[in-house]
Amino acid sequence: MSRRRKIYEGKAKIIYEGPEPGTVIQHFKDDATAFNAKKHEIIEGKGVINNRISEYIFQGLGEIGVQTHFIKRLNMREQLVHKLEIIPIEVVVRNIAAGSISKRLGIKEGTQLPRPIIEFFYKDDDLDDPMILEEHINAFGWASPGEIDEIMSTALRVNDFLAGLFRGIGIRLVDFKIEFGRQFEEDMMRILLADEISPDNCRLWDVETNKKLDKDRFRQDMGGMVEAYQEVAIRLGILNPGNNGEERPKPVLVSSNTSADKDKTD
Ligand code: ADP
Ligand code: UDP
Repeated sequence: MSRRRKIYEGKAKIIYEGPEPGTVIQHFKDDATAFNAKKHEIIEGKGVINNRISEYIFQGLGEIGVQTHFIKRLNMREQLVHKLEIIPIEVVVRNIAAGSISKRLGIKEGTQLPRPIIEFFYKDDDLDDPMILEEHINAFGWASPGEIDEIMSTALRVNDFLAGLFRGIGIRLVDFKIEFGRQFEEDMMRILLADEISPDNCRLWDVETNKKLDKDRFRQDMGGMVEAYQEVAIRLGILNPGNNGEERPKPVLVSSNTSADKDKTD
């Protein structure tokens, strides 16, 4: 790889300086981490698939008018994006109870929520990304009230888009996490959707079988993580069955589900 400047290395991606001012390169690694990196493995092929899935979703969001950092995919593992000042908040949208909300509120995993629920977490690995209130975001100046409004309305638009997209390929969108950042251009500032949207930061369940097609396979030692991510990419039509993303993909028919691979998720 060329000698370019690494700006940041995270758990799943590396950020390099981009070719033009105001841009950076997002490099998708094969590292899988959970429980704030206490669990870590290399899952060969994961980065390639997430790069593809995230590209597809960000392009789709761009087409419905959501402003995102995505500019273009550069190669199998990298995309060119606008350089942002990341707002240190993880925005989680939930449609069905799972993960931390189930634990925190004692809601059985799989329970349909009365409406989409937005939660905020403070992006700080040392603190294990604690849950925060809008009150904290305001008081500590992490985002202004206007920015929070924009973030929340965009998060709900992203939820509508993703829920429909996945529903169309037989997948239930349980929840997901997104991030936002500020782009400064001359004396203008705008908020863009940042980071990635992939099975690493969504919960995706097969509509028929409830099979988990996301990072919970890794968190819960279920195995078959990369195959599940491939399944999502194949159903989205961005990967051919029988390759791991190394070849130029063509649209394919939505694959059928196998009853042999049922996971009980309630
Ligand atoms: P983490 O930092 O949680 O380990 P990653 O390994 O995914 O996560 O690292 C990617 C980092 O890049 C994240 O901290 C994310 O906030 C940041 N990021 C995402 N998009 C941009 C962007 N457009 N400009 C600058 N930083 C970004
Ligand atoms: N999530 C994420 N990064 C995080 C924490 C959560 O992408 O650091 C995603 C996670 O994959 C899920 C959603 O956000 O789709 C809600 O996660 P939850 O709060 O249930 O936390 P978990 O129990 O998964 O840690």
